[in-house]
Amino acid sequence: MQIRTPDQWRAKDAAHVIHPNTMLGLHEQNGGLMIQSAHGSTLIDIEGKEYLDGIGALWLTNVGYGRPELADAAAAQMKELPFWSLFWSYGHTKAVELAERLAQLAPPGLSHTFFTSGGSEANESSMKIARLYHVRRGQPDRTVILALDQAYHGVSYGAMSATGIAAVRTNFAPFLTDVTHVPTPHPYRAGPEAASTALEALEQQIRQIGPKRVAALMLEPIGGVGGLIDLPDEYIRGARALCDRYGILLIIDEVICGFGRTGTWFGIEHSGVIPDIISCAKGITSGYFPLGASIIHDRVYAVIKGEPTDYFNHGFTYSGHPVGCAVALANIDLIEREELGARAVAMGAYLRERLLARANPHIAQIRGKGLMLGVQLAQNPATRQDPIDPEAHKKVEAGCRAEGVLLRALLGYTIAISPPLVITEPELDRIVDVLDRNIRRVFTGG
Ligand code: PLP
Repeated sequence: MQIRTPDQWRAKDAAHVIHPNTMLGLHEQNGGLMIQSAHGSTLIDIEGKEYLDGIGALWLTNVGYGRPELADAAAAQMKELPFWSLFWSYGHTKAVELAERLAQLAPPGLSHTFFTSGGSEANESSMKIARLYHVRRGQPDRTVILALDQAYHGVSYGAMSATGIAAVRTNFAPFLTDVTHVPTPHPYRAGPEAASTALEALEQQIRQIGPKRVAALMLEPIGGVGGLIDLPDEYIRGARALCDRYGILLIIDEVICGFGRTGTWFGIEHSGVIPDIISCAKGITSGYFPLGASIIHDRVYAVIKGEPTDYFNHGFTYSGHPVGCAVALANIDLIEREELGARAVAMGAYLRERLLARANPHIAQIRGKGLMLGVQLAQNPATRQDPIDPEAHKKVEAGCRAEGVLLRALLGYTIAISPPLVITEPELDRIVDVLDRNIRRVFTGG
């Protein structure tokens, strides 16, 4: 690595790197948090300052940083076969091994995998597969994809079109046609009737569009970016029933929830619902290599396969990258061996209990499962009054960061906590301490 001072790194960064999801001008002026190395749940920046990673980078470093098992798997695969493709009649053994493994882990019946490089590509693929399914069944008019109005499904055109969050879509119209948003059953905003009201709206929308026009409904079991929206089981089960009634496929976006984060291999398992298609990414390699997947139910696969001469015209250069597959296999081994799903449940319960013990007067709700939690801020929890300061959650995030703890301010005044699943109790104590203090400081104007 080149030797440069922190200021030199920042100047070169401002001169050449376009950062995703930021105010580019402000970023150029202020610089960002440049990380040099990491171990466990700790990040070290270019000045040598340590940060506790309370967000698993982008909800994904499930096995923590600096795991030699994953580095060794990548190095060994790079030496043996750095790249080969799955196009046409090609194949390689690592993709077979991983697809077989995913079939064992996924809910019953989902045993065919199409690989991608990340979550947006996985959702893109799941949506295309849903449309193809209906074409092959002789119902080509079923083109409409339904998604929640507070969902986040990615930034490529199809995935962004399915994303409901307005800010993600601003400036990028026109969108994919035939994508329609339905109300989100927000467990805080919509109250106890959240599920039944949203289900009624969903059915009404399906009838309005015409049931024979709808291809699929796409849901995150726990919406991440939209504000840590833990969908009620009643809603997920009701949505499954509506899909069955109207011949609609259910796509579950597990990009964040998969691979132990919520305590199970897939977030949908908590509801007992079997989806038709799962999109996953992130935790599949704990972020050590870009990889995603659409895992498809056998009955859907049997239809899209069609006749022996029917062509499946879809594939990315890096679909089933052998290094990604090798890293994913090693990562899944670690999650299994170290029982990180069970650990996520135990540590999540500990974190919740410690936070509640603080009796912070501005925490209205703690949502989520395992180590995917959202802390709902309110001016007055009793009346559910939102913070008077519209920047309150962002100030809390900034205050925590200044104290060396990375958390994430989400839409709707929520602070996300989604650390590596290997995080320890003392590290969680520190998160609680810093978060509690900063919430109090921000709300008292300190
Ligand atoms: N789906 C969900 C639920 C996500 O949270 C994300 C990314 O945060 C995506 C899809 C998009 O994944 P990627 O950024 O890998 O394209």
